Amino acid sequence: MNTTLNLTELKGKFRGQIIERNDPKFNDVRALYNGMIDKRPLAIAQCANVADVITAVNFGRDSGIPIAIRGGGHNGPGLGSVNDGLVIDLSQMRGVRVDPTSRTARVEPGCTQGDVDHATHAFGLAVPAGIISTTGIAGLTLSGGHGYLTRKYGLTVDNLIEADVVLADGSFVTAGRDKNADLLWALRGGGGNFGVVTSFLFQLHPVSIVFGGPIAFDQKHARTIMQQYREFLGTAPEELGIFLGLKSVLSCAPFPQEHWGKRMCLLMCCYDGSEVEGKKALAPLLGKLPEPWFDWRGTMPYPAVQSMFDGLYPKGMQWYWRGDFVKTLTDAAIDTHLAQAAQTPTELSLMHLYPIDGAVHRRAGGDTAWNCRDATWSMVIAGIDPDPQKAGTVTRWTKAYWEAVHPFNLGGAYPNFMMDDEGTARLEASFGENYSRLAGVKKKYDPKNLFRVNQNIKPAA
Ligand SMILES: Cc1cc2nc3c(=O)[nH]c(=O)nc-3n(C[C@H](O)[C@H](O)[C@H](O)COP(=O)(O)OP(=O)(O)OC[C@H]3O[C@@H](n4cnc5c(N)ncnc54)[C@H](O)[C@@H]3O)c2cc1C
Repeated sequence: MNTTLNLTELKGKFRGQIIERNDPKFNDVRALYNGMIDKRPLAIAQCANVADVITAVNFGRDSGIPIAIRGGGHNGPGLGSVNDGLVIDLSQMRGVRVDPTSRTARVEPGCTQGDVDHATHAFGLAVPAGIISTTGIAGLTLSGGHGYLTRKYGLTVDNLIEADVVLADGSFVTAGRDKNADLLWALRGGGGNFGVVTSFLFQLHPVSIVFGGPIAFDQKHARTIMQQYREFLGTAPEELGIFLGLKSVLSCAPFPQEHWGKRMCLLMCCYDGSEVEGKKALAPLLGKLPEPWFDWRGTMPYPAVQSMFDGLYPKGMQWYWRGDFVKTLTDAAIDTHLAQAAQTPTELSLMHLYPIDGAVHRRAGGDTAWNCRDATWSMVIAGIDPDPQKAGTVTRWTKAYWEAVHPFNLGGAYPNFMMDDEGTARLEASFGENYSRLAGVKKKYDPKNLFRVNQNIKPAA
């Protein structure tokens, strides 16, 4: 393995910064969102523009070192970085151009979700994405992207119209409906396998002021809440984004002190509409549930609900994730969830069930690489704690919880909720019948598997 690189030529051609191991900024720049992952690249190429991306791809390929592509650096197993290789870091490329006439946005690959929401909100528009604003739009989009607007407007990939890509041979292509359509299909869920995306074109939707927030119940009522939520979801208007969580009330402001550290069942809502309509939409469910500990729904700009949890989940904590797609939530599955959630090892650890229905179900499985359109939820179990000493504890709890509930679930998971120790069979199950087609597209655009630091799809034989 190479441990030194001759970077003189690269630096001569590069407009952004090349950060090496002896650079005082190296440790800060290489740090990932998940503090459990500690990778030491040989160099980090912070690209300023597409020309830099082409230069970096050519340099990495010709040097024979592994290449990682970094957007927001939020990936669970840290696939935005690589030991002893080159990181193509896009975090400085953060432009967004909104076209209010066509209701589209051109987004550069270093943007966070918050960057995109900020830019589009000024026009009363939004693209569906995840629930924490610091997440990178690139990694989230390329593996799917689900959040509050998904029931009404689909996944983030369902709203991806076009992408510019630097391929493994250094060439630049645009993938759209009329050109390189196979590549666009693969980028809509197949992850960072096909090249470095340097620009995304998204379809936007009229979303501006929403009615949303958390409703927290004592976890002793969770069986009833989960059963009623299960029955309610299929009848709920698609304007209502609503996920369920088994977690704890954190021992800090603004949470009511009498509940600090207690286990709760959370309903987190975002209604795309007025308070009156939002209350009406949720009333059939709330009418069947006990009194909550607190109900903090309110009227707010969409970017406010999108960033509501940011402060609770800062960069650098220990995270271990496991996910599954869930089709039906049986009573036996609920009982298993409750037994596992009762053993949550830290206050931040959680289980969330995100709805995958409505607009997601209106597309056929083969329309995009993202395949699991007959699921009802995307489940994540995340063991989380700020203390590195707890890394083993949160990992063991997550794995045990997942092993207990997995038999009730579908075979695959949302790839963005997978670590890198789950094996190829899990990835194949996640893509189902799309897997072999993805392997074919990979063979066409990256036959030597240059881009392999990801949830890797091997080129077809
Ligand atoms: C706190 C938290 C909350 C989350 N909530 C949600 C949620 O609500 N909904 C949801 O859908 N997901 C959610 N996620 C998962 C998130 O989508 C993934 O972690 C995603 O990988 C993050 O993207 P990134 O750009 O920040 O990651 P990075 O670590 O930078 O990259 C992740 C992967 O994407 C690839 N990649 C990144 N940029 C490019 C590019 N320009 N071209 C090609 N490949 C690229 C990389 O190769 C790497 O494999 C959440 C994650 C966290 C940590």
